[in-house]
Amino acid sequence: MMLTCKETTRLVSQGLDRDLAFGERVALRLHLAICVGCRRAGAQMAYLRKAVRELAEFDLKSGF
Ligand SMILES: [Zn+2]
Repeated sequence: MMLTCKETTRLVSQGLDRDLAFGERVALRLHLAICVGCRRAGAQMAYLRKAVRELAEFDLKSGF
């Protein structure tokens, strides 16, 4: 099974929220191995999620 870039970015984003099925992870890896665009998009997404989460924790701690 070969994913399109659209399906790949959707899976990457879902993978940040839930555990992907084995087949989904394999398909994702395969696509990321050949597609630099999705690798960059995925890294950016993970970075943004992390930044948002850290910001939320910061707000929580500082009493907002
Ligand atoms: Zn792609």
